[in-house]
Amino acid sequence: MTESAMKLLVANRGEIASRVFATARRLGWRTVAVFAEPDRNAPFVRQGDEARCIGPAALDQSYLSVPRILAAAADASADAVHPGYGFLSENAEFARSAIDAGLTWVGPHPEAIAHMGAKVEARAIAERAGVPTIPGASEGDLATAASEIGFPVLVKASAGGGGKGIRIVRSPDGFAAALGEARTEAFRSFGDDRLIVERYIERPRHIEVQIVGDRHGSIVHLGTRDCSSQRRYQKLLEEAPAPNLPDATREGLHEAAVALARHIGYDSAGTVEFIVDTDSGDFFFLEMNTRLQVEHPVTEAICGLDLVEMQLRSAIGANLGISQTEVTFSGHSIEARINAEDPSDGFSPRAGDVRHVSVPDGVRWDSAVEPGSEISPYYDPLIGKLIVHRPSRAAALDAVRGALDGLVLGPVPTNAGFLRWLVGTPQLRGGDMTTNIIDALGAPEFPAPPPAADAAPAAAAAWLRHLRHDRNAGHDGPWSRLGPFRLTEHRPEAAVLLRDAAGDLHEVSADAIEGHNAPAGMSAAGMSTGASSSDEGSVAVNVCGHTVTFEVPDRSDAWAPAGTAGTGSVGDIAAPFPAVVVEVSVVAGEAVAAGDAVVTVEAMKMLHSLVAAGAGVVAEVRCTPGDAVEANQVLVSFVHA
Ligand code: ADP
Ligand code: ADP
Ligand code: MG
Repeated sequence: MTESAMKLLVANRGEIASRVFATARRLGWRTVAVFAEPDRNAPFVRQGDEARCIGPAALDQSYLSVPRILAAAADASADAVHPGYGFLSENAEFARSAIDAGLTWVGPHPEAIAHMGAKVEARAIAERAGVPTIPGASEGDLATAASEIGFPVLVKASAGGGGKGIRIVRSPDGFAAALGEARTEAFRSFGDDRLIVERYIERPRHIEVQIVGDRHGSIVHLGTRDCSSQRRYQKLLEEAPAPNLPDATREGLHEAAVALARHIGYDSAGTVEFIVDTDSGDFFFLEMNTRLQVEHPVTEAICGLDLVEMQLRSAIGANLGISQTEVTFSGHSIEARINAEDPSDGFSPRAGDVRHVSVPDGVRWDSAVEPGSEISPYYDPLIGKLIVHRPSRAAALDAVRGALDGLVLGPVPTNAGFLRWLVGTPQLRGGDMTTNIIDALGAPEFPAPPPAADAAPAAAAAWLRHLRHDRNAGHDGPWSRLGPFRLTEHRPEAAVLLRDAAGDLHEVSADAIEGHNAPAGMSAAGMSTGASSSDEGSVAVNVCGHTVTFEVPDRSDAWAPAGTAGTGSVGDIAAPFPAVVVEVSVVAGEAVAAGDAVVTVEAMKMLHSLVAAGAGVVAEVRCTPGDAVEANQVLVSFVHA
């Protein structure tokens, strides 16, 4: 088989599938997308030369189903499979099955995945490779081990990933309960109930080293990344190189990562993660991710390399084509992960629609969405990554902030405004961050978008008028299908009527539009017309990083109350957002007390317990585990007096 004849199936979704397709296409490879039903209209599906539907939303019947993915590969006559990140990317069985099926596996040899997939084994291997590990234990009496390590300790699932299921235990009292919960959750999420108890490092930085190897024994490191800006043990901002590191520590990290990679004959792209204790300066091995990492673009930026290309080269047996001395670093790169989530509500994930996507120039935008996309509750909340590369860290920070001021993405809520605030904090600017930065800063009490209420409608209206003038000047944009703006009696100039997300109407007078001067940090961009109706419109503006979206109401229903559909009677339990029902704890006729858990739902990696607001008797259970439910859908109703 010649290189140019390769046909690559990407066993993943969203932005990482798009990312892999881009390189494959550039190299002249043909590509196959696989998708689950909810993703049928997602951009990545069209970006493959071919696409195969592999099943319904449920992960075990789609993106986590080895037989279904291999059947799609056979059906499409694919030659190679790239697993992306998450899902099956660190599943040695998948790698072995793909290889057994005659496919070229774009990843390390399966034994490397198996060794590093379980944190328990990975720790032991790191120790054998001479890499320091965090004091901890994984077998025997873990309670005794915890006391010996000293509280606080962290309890982690050996098979864990994505920050899921990590618990901090501060004293011996809560230990047994935390261990039990962690074991149940580990088994439920990862099918492996082994746990690790580790000393909790109080002021840690998360620093990792990118490694690339080939099948001829060459291994190079591509420097450090700092991923300390996290929430819920999950990364939010990543930068390369890691700032404020003594040279000796940086060198030590590089050497430790290469030593570990050599020890297991590593032969693809991978990342060795470390915790650096800012109190002692010591570093410890955390885990190794035997795959491409979400934050790989910051390394690509400073090295001028394409990591997916390096993975593909290694997979087909080519050599790396670069030696350690040829690896050079230039400037500073920062990535901001844009998640569909609400930072002011514990960063809980949000499903919803995307109507506006407008990205400023001068940045790399790796994304999963376009206007018209729907964020379903089934998968990860990551919907896009903004990546900047500038000569210095200060310039890169300014550039991220500028990019977040120019990004318009909505109406699904995102963390963009939060990130815009975060990158302006002295801690972040000073490079003085630990993984506790968000708690330390007092978030989620970060400033909500204060000027939104006043300035946003005026900015949105000004933008609308600008578009209309454009249209009158002969440009034929999407607004040409909009009806005329509302005419007031005295002024032929338009006043503009807008409806915000809460359903409230704003009538912006021509004077207000005239007097509107866009405050610093506000840009208005992005427009779309509703897909279903030719005179339906929407406009969005960026206020301090937050996207504020308005509907341009149809004259006929302009004054009708909005947003009242679907809510239940007071006291009923309704889904707070689109989600999947995991557990129903009550039956009809059952009495509950205030605070009793009634239904547990899951939305994008997080479980939410819906509790009774008061005492009552269940009238009807209207859902069963496995149901996908809409926001405001009543799940359990109560007998009303
Ligand atoms: P990285 O270490 O590359 O920064 P994460 O550890 O956050 O990334 O995990 C990679 C991505 O895959 C994340 O978006 C995460 O939510 C997702 N992910 C992690 N584990 C799983 C899993 N078991 N199933 C599906 N997605 C996962
Ligand atoms: P995952 O596989 O879920 O990515 P990791 O072991 O990489 O799990 O840990 C995820 C995050 O949890 C780290 O980036 C760090 O913020 C935090 N963490 C993990 N272990 C420790 C520890 N022993 N002390 C303090 N923080 C830790
Ligand atoms: Mg990790």
